[in-house]
Amino acid sequence: MNVRAHIDAVHAQIRRRDPGEAEFHQAVTEVLSSLAPALERHPEYVDTGIVERLCEPERQLTFRVPWVDDDGAVRVSRGFRIEFSSALGPYKGGLRFHPSVNLGIVKFLGFEQIFKNALTGMAIGGGKGGADFAPRGRSDGEVMRFCQSFMTELHRHVGEQTDVPAGDIGVGAREIGYLFGQYKRITNRFEAGVLTGKPVAWCGSPARAEATGYGTVYFAQEMLATRGHGFDGRRVVVSGCGNVAIHAIEKSHALGGRVVACSDSSGYVVDEDGIDVELLKEVKEVRRARVAAYAQSKPTARFSARGTVYGLPCDIALPCATQNELDREDAVALVKNGVLAVAEGANMPCTPEAVRLFHEAGVLFGPGKAANAGGVATSALEMQQNAAREQWSFEQTESRLADIMRTVHSQCRETAEDYGGTPDDYVLGANIAGFLRVADAMSAQGVV
Ligand code: GLU
Repeated sequence: MNVRAHIDAVHAQIRRRDPGEAEFHQAVTEVLSSLAPALERHPEYVDTGIVERLCEPERQLTFRVPWVDDDGAVRVSRGFRIEFSSALGPYKGGLRFHPSVNLGIVKFLGFEQIFKNALTGMAIGGGKGGADFAPRGRSDGEVMRFCQSFMTELHRHVGEQTDVPAGDIGVGAREIGYLFGQYKRITNRFEAGVLTGKPVAWCGSPARAEATGYGTVYFAQEMLATRGHGFDGRRVVVSGCGNVAIHAIEKSHALGGRVVACSDSSGYVVDEDGIDVELLKEVKEVRRARVAAYAQSKPTARFSARGTVYGLPCDIALPCATQNELDREDAVALVKNGVLAVAEGANMPCTPEAVRLFHEAGVLFGPGKAANAGGVATSALEMQQNAAREQWSFEQTESRLADIMRTVHSQCRETAEDYGGTPDDYVLGANIAGFLRVADAMSAQGVV
């Protein structure tokens, strides 16, 4: 069968069997539209149904998560874990607790995770999970009871050699702690490597909290260096203000950039003095308040409930909020203002149309599965430390992270060129490089 027809047939099958999973369809389309040159060179992957198998999760779990709120009312949330691919190692990927979570969202995230994890070069498969539970506005007690109920089901499916969840939106150190405590209680095992993103004080990895944001900035720095640029003296905008955004801002500043804006779902703040990371951390992580509270605490800052950070003139944009947050209109504004580079700290934050506009305008564009791979790569370093019962220094871990990001970057460029694109085509390079590593392992392991 010809390669294009094969890819079209896989697409058609997904649309038919998985109706209504818009984000999953989008993520699959994005990857499949890069794969023709790889499949032409490796017809054996067509013959053994590699693409078709990759698009079908090895296992998908949905489960009831009942919990009792502070008023004594019973609530029923829906939990998910998609164990997508174990070709390269135990399923690995975060948990997202957010009201928008549904099967299509978790499948898109799990699918992306396969290729992202492959790009890191580490021994980790791809998975993702979460629940439609909203931690915002919930007391610590409610969050704890929710996490305990969630793990009461999830513990049957995870394990350090099987499936290793971590954080994502709505799941940070607090939630990981409650989840770990319940896993330990049910299994009677202190199995440190069953979850990553643990606090450094008990079996977490130094630099894990920083890794996704720092890694995204390292990736952007590598892209910029190919054109003789850097962060020094550059204006940067960041969307989001969670863990990824905070550390992307911190590292941008460390490299001499000035981050003038960040946001949350209620609006954005502009601070021409440069965002004060300590204040932002205090607002988001201690007070758990909205970003507007930053502007109330800082005279040089202003809050806007309308528009996006992308309307502001900038040299570098780091979307670190959520999927499809940066659309056509934002991309037009960024290109008009002469943006040099866009690196995705979040998963799939740029719509396909926005990505196309960046490509046409020659803007350096780092897709999330490459640019934000530093988080999961450092999770794999956490697993290594847990297996060896040791803990590395911050410097040692960060230097491994920086090496990994450099390698991911060069791998994207080399693969893109090798498969008929320009070295700047990071989308093509990331998709093919990730795919080939998984496909090689799948071929060797037979039809499973
Ligand atoms: N949720 C993160 C991601 O999107 C991290 C996953 C992990 O550390 O397992 O890659």
